[in-house]
Formats: sequence, C-alpha cells, structure tokens
Amino acid sequence: MSIFENLDLIQQKFHSEIETITSSEALFQWKAKFMGKAGELSEVLKGLKDVSPQDRPKIGARANELRDDFEKKFSERLKSIEGQEIAKKLAAESLDITLPGRVRHVGTVHPLTQVTDRILDIFYRLGFTLITGPEVETEFCNFDALNVPKDHPARDMQDTLFLKNGHLLRTQTSSMQIRAMLSQKPPLRLVTTGAVYRSESVDATHAAAFHQLECLCVDKNITMQELKGTLEFFAKEMFGHKTQIRLRGSFFPFTEPSVEVDCSCVFCAGKGCRICKHSGWIEILGAGMVNPAVFEAVGYESSDYSGFALGMGIERIAMLLHGVNDVRLFTENDIRFLEQFT
Ligand SMILES: [Zn+2]
Repeated sequence: MSIFENLDLIQQKFHSEIETITSSEALFQWKAKFMGKAGELSEVLKGLKDVSPQDRPKIGARANELRDDFEKKFSERLKSIEGQEIAKKLAAESLDITLPGRVRHVGTVHPLTQVTDRILDIFYRLGFTLITGPEVETEFCNFDALNVPKDHPARDMQDTLFLKNGHLLRTQTSSMQIRAMLSQKPPLRLVTTGAVYRSESVDATHAAAFHQLECLCVDKNITMQELKGTLEFFAKEMFGHKTQIRLRGSFFPFTEPSVEVDCSCVFCAGKGCRICKHSGWIEILGAGMVNPAVFEAVGYESSDYSGFALGMGIERIAMLLHGVNDVRLFTENDIRFLEQFT
C-alpha cells in the first residue's frame, strides 16, 4: 500500500472515530493519541524516508492538508461537545418552579389566652390591676385564711393535690387575694389569673388543671351595689350589650353573702335552647361580699373595710363563647382545633 493510500485511510479513520467521542476530556486524550509524536499519523509519515525525493514535497503537502483538516474537524467537534455538556449541566441544575412550596404553620394565641386577655381588658378598664403568684401554695393561703374549715371536704386528699413538704398545688386563684392583702393595705382593686389544680378524674367537663380569673375590690363603703354594677358591666362587655344578669344566693366560705351569677343565654337571647337547658340562663361565675373572717385573717379591720370578690373558670367562659363541648380540646393541641381561633 502506498503512503498516499495510507494517508487516505488515516483520514477516513479520523473522521469516523471522532464522531463516536462524546466528552471533551476523551476528545483531548484521543487527539493526543492520534496526532501526537507517537500517533498514527506520525507512524505513517515515518515511511517518508523510503519515498523518492521528487515525491516527498507532494506527500509533505498532503500531510499538511491532513493536519489542517484534523485541526478544523477537532475544533468543530469540541465546540459541539462543549455545547452539549453545558446544556446537560443547565438541565441538571435548573429549578422546577412549578413544585408547590412547603406549608409552614404560623403559631397563634391559644384560645384560652385570647379569652383571658379579653376578660382582663374589661377589668383593666374598671381600674383593676393584675397580680400573679405561685402555683405551689401554703395551706394557710389556699384554705385557712379563706375561711375554709379544717374539716371541709375540699381539703381532702381526694380533691386537693398535696406535696410532700406539706404545701399543695393551689386549688383556686383566691389564694392570691390572701397574698395581696397580706402585703398591701386597702384600697385594693386587683385581678388575678392562672392555673389551678384538682385531684379530679378528667372527662368532657372536668380537668385536673384548669384556669381561673378572680377580682378583689376592698375599700371603705363597698356594697353589693358595686359588685352588681361590676358584674353587669362585665357581662355586657363580654357577651353583648343586651346581656342580662341574675344573682342567685349561694355559699362560699370566703364570701358572705355569696351569689352564683347567671347571664341571659348568649345563644338564644333568653328564649331557651339546648345549651341553657331551656332555662334562658347560663351560670358564668361565683361572687360575693368578702367574709369579715377573711379580713381578720389578713389583719384588716373588718369594721372599717368591706369588699367584693368574683371568680370564674376561663375554660367555662371559652366553652360558652365558642360553643366548645369538651374541655379536653383546649389541652390536646390538635392543630385543626386551634386553627379555628386564628
Ligand atoms: Zn339558650
């Protein structure tokens, strides 16, 4: 085979092989092998020494033509491969903007806190000041000073959670009234709220931990009239301006006289419905005039001062306001429930 034929074969081989290479890295390696010093083209040109001198220029020209052709073909192929590589990289890194985003739950104020804030706001407008205190209480603040007799069933282990050190988990926020009166002189106009604890089996209407809110007003010449005015203002602000209240005689050790306070049913406006058990009235809180025995326990002169106290369960008010029929829903932290109060 002549050297010319060999060169033609090399050219054909170059053209067919270069089309099979698909990465720029492999292309450079292949080119070094093909056109380098020990490459196939150089091997063929080694045969030049056996060629007659008059043929050599022709072969030299043909070899140069091949080199030009190879370089041209090489840069075309490189350009095409690099283009494909860039397109591939872009496709791999592109963002799919049609994917839906991840939903983030935004926290909200708990329904019990919302109700507490609403009630507090009403009493703030009447000049009451918020006080807070410990959930671990002494028997004196929780029972003795509140005129709860030593043999009262509320003190029983069945009802109260006692601690090993003789203290207890407060069963009512009224203990804060005692703490306030022990540290401050009248006149007082205080509101307090927080968790209270009972040794109670839990069901739809009973919880072992729940929340109360209480008010205490002590001054000279405070009468039942101040209490009634305060209750009426609260009921109208809380449940609407057409709300009526009614007082029923009751008994609490720390107030005398004591009353249960009903408001006209917020669901049927007093006409009678399932919620008010067709009476037209719903019990919302307990209240009364501070028992002189309580004043004596904290060192107030009961002949100089009088006062009223009122207290309510936050869960009960929240259940009434929102038509919730199971107290456990407030503490189960079910997002589907809580989201309804945003
Ligand atoms: Zn009703």
